[in-house]
Amino acid sequence: MESVRILAVARSLSRLKRLRSSAAEEGFELLTARSGSEALAIVETGQIDLLLLEDALPGALTVVAAHRAKRGSEPHQIVALTPGLARGGFRGNIPYDDFFAAFASTGERKARIRSAVDRLRRQRELARERDHFRAAIHDEREQSARLLDRHLHLVKAFRAMEGINEELERSNKRLEKIARYDMLSGLLNRSSLFAAMDIEIERAVRNGAPLGGFMTDIDHFKSINDNFGHPYGDEVIRQIGNRLKLAMRTYDSAGRYGGEEFFIILPNTTIDQARMIAERFRESLDRAPVVLGDDTVKVTASLGVAEYRVGANREEWVRSADRAMYSAKQEGRNRTVVEA
Ligand code: GH3
Ligand code: MG
Ligand code: MG
Repeated sequence: MESVRILAVARSLSRLKRLRSSAAEEGFELLTARSGSEALAIVETGQIDLLLLEDALPGALTVVAAHRAKRGSEPHQIVALTPGLARGGFRGNIPYDDFFAAFASTGERKARIRSAVDRLRRQRELARERDHFRAAIHDEREQSARLLDRHLHLVKAFRAMEGINEELERSNKRLEKIARYDMLSGLLNRSSLFAAMDIEIERAVRNGAPLGGFMTDIDHFKSINDNFGHPYGDEVIRQIGNRLKLAMRTYDSAGRYGGEEFFIILPNTTIDQARMIAERFRESLDRAPVVLGDDTVKVTASLGVAEYRVGANREEWVRSADRAMYSAKQEGRNRTVVEA
């Protein structure tokens, strides 16, 4: 059984004795005090659960107030011993939980003490429940906070994953591009160029359509590298790539065959049309110099046009265009030669 700490406060020793023996018969021990100040000192320790005191004792209300203040919302009981027929004697704010006549019978005294202890126990139970619920609410709050944290963490992780996915997609696209295109000129790289040529050869053979093409090589490119430096040489290759793209029609494709040599595939195009397209590109290059920082540099190219001939293979087609281009170089560069 939980302990109940009782303080009995009365001026008369015999009264205290009676209270002590009644309490003992109920199974409780009690502390005693014979004055307000003595009682106050004990109450101030905060150890008293049940205060039994004569309400006529000088300073009784001070003791009562101190007891209430000390215990606050902790369970405690205060029972007054009234001098005479006190029932109905208290008016207004009764500061006591119960009272009984100082000369009450032993039976009543014991019953009053017992019921004060009962009330105390119920208060204790309520307090325990209250603490339990407080703890539960606190736990709940903590759990909610933890859940919220976890949720936010998941959202963050999800976002990060989405970001990674997007990044992966982007880099896949980049990789695809790297695999297919030449990064410097932006045109097809050598192997994609060959694949495109093979496709167009097959289509031309199947449809009986003419297939044209031309090879172009920049004139005196070494001197551009020598005079302006390799990075500027790269810049020229980049700009030539752009200009080739502009010269192309929807179904044409162009690739970087070598260092500064390009091959342009012209599907469904006769040799005469191919020569015109090649010439147009050469003239546009001849007319508009390439801009390199503060410098403008005239860049020209030599071109060799060749028609794909049924029965030939890709290498033969390229060789034919290459031979024509070589003739263009031989004849003085910055010109277009059609295969013989
Ligand atoms: P020509 O064609 O008129 O006979 O003279 P050329 O000076 O252009 O001679 P050639 O075509 O034989 O030389 C090509 C030069 O291009 C050689 C090489 O150093 C340079 N080159 C090749 N690839 C690149 C590149 O990616 N960047 C740069 N800056 N230079 C390159
Ligand atoms: Mg060259
Ligand atoms: Mg070359």
